Amino acid sequence: MTLASTRPVAPNPHQTVQQQFTKAADVMDLEPGFREILAEPMNEIIVHFPVTMDDGTVRVFRGYRIQHNNVLGPFKGGMRYHPTVRRDEVKALAAWMTWKCAVVNLPFGGAKGGIKCDPHTFSPAELERLTRRFTYALQNFIGPEKDIPAPDVNTNPQVMTWMMDTYMAGVDISQRGAQKHCVTGKPVEVGGSQGRDKATGRGLADALEAHLEVRPLPERPTPASGNVFEGLKFTVQGFGNVGSAAALTLQERGARLIAVNDHTGSIANPDGIDAVALGSHVEVRRGVIGFPAAAEVSREEFFRTRADVFIPAALENQVTLENCDWLDVALVAEGANGPVTPDAEARLLERGVTLLPDILANAGGVTVSYFEWVQNKNSQFWTLAEVNRKLRRTMRENFTLVHKIAGRKRTDLRTAAYILGLERLTAVYRLRGIFP
Ligand code: NAD
Repeated sequence: MTLASTRPVAPNPHQTVQQQFTKAADVMDLEPGFREILAEPMNEIIVHFPVTMDDGTVRVFRGYRIQHNNVLGPFKGGMRYHPTVRRDEVKALAAWMTWKCAVVNLPFGGAKGGIKCDPHTFSPAELERLTRRFTYALQNFIGPEKDIPAPDVNTNPQVMTWMMDTYMAGVDISQRGAQKHCVTGKPVEVGGSQGRDKATGRGLADALEAHLEVRPLPERPTPASGNVFEGLKFTVQGFGNVGSAAALTLQERGARLIAVNDHTGSIANPDGIDAVALGSHVEVRRGVIGFPAAAEVSREEFFRTRADVFIPAALENQVTLENCDWLDVALVAEGANGPVTPDAEARLLERGVTLLPDILANAGGVTVSYFEWVQNKNSQFWTLAEVNRKLRRTMRENFTLVHKIAGRKRTDLRTAAYILGLERLTAVYRLRGIFP
């Protein structure tokens, strides 16, 4: 006889996104037709493609590109390489992209893609061949005015460059020079935007700042200096693109990083962990473990660390009913997509913990991807200061709108952000009508 496990099963992210959407649709009394249109993606592309490995063997990989909605503009969304990539996860991530672009008012729809694989086991040459074959398989479905990939978990500016180069090889030679905006998140040298690498984390800091200005945390009045970050203590899960940039920006603005968790383990130091030094360590050691200026702690101790703000910036379903009561913070700012399960969120809200939702908090990445796309289309180069100023304005203005909706509808920030996005999407549907 086998004993059934008592561990709760992590929710399917597609169901999570449906639950969040339905809650907002109920609060705003959305018509049934829109609920049906937006519940499912427009296109689900699954490809299987061969790659020759360094030892001469051939492996076949499964890749996805799910295009949720393009009523606001071309499909847009990241590419993830991870062993957990599966259809329902990509469907959820694609839908979150639709809501996110609408929340920050970008002329983009939502998509997401990825390959089920463990990229840490590949050589750079294998990673390049994998990326190029995947892009080749998607050639007819992506493009600068159709669907524009960007980096996500385990993909980076180098991967984006291989995607761009492979896509360009498939279009007419006379068109290639004008196709750079087929991918965003590229290195600056090949057409990327200043500031894109840190945009998601920086945008999170901008949204958090706007939040703390109008809603100071309980028992933490605004410091006399007026700087809401002065002395603020925070913890971060995931020290990749999003987590490290958020930590760096908050540190620059006066906050103190006191604990970090990633796929290699957890570290803590109540006196502060220098985000710059930790970034250099992670670059070399590929994880936070072994960082000399902090103690190694367990995952549970990490989650129980007393702080003002917790930033989950790794994967979905990290805060569950099992561990949400460990959290000893006043606010969770979601750098990752879907890091908190709906039942854990309900418990946290009951406890008075505020959630700054992913579709607003981490929208800085796609915002600067949009800036990159516009610069490429118009052969422009914006300065870092210009990009950061426009990013800050986008994050602050849309936070303010979400905050106002939350007050007017007496609801939480996630539901308010969905309502803002849904109001923008449905306004377009109402004007355009349903073909024919
Ligand atoms: P990344 O690959 O640069 O970093 C991922 C981090 O997560 C790494 O530090 C890794 O150690 C950690 N991690 C992985 N598995 C873990 C586990 N089981 N437990 C703890 N930590 C774990 O990825 P990223 O681009 O920083 O993306 C992180 C999250 O942010 C994802 O949810 C992604 O969808 C979201 N996001 C990314 C961007 C972007 O611009 N890159 C934009 C918006 C949202």
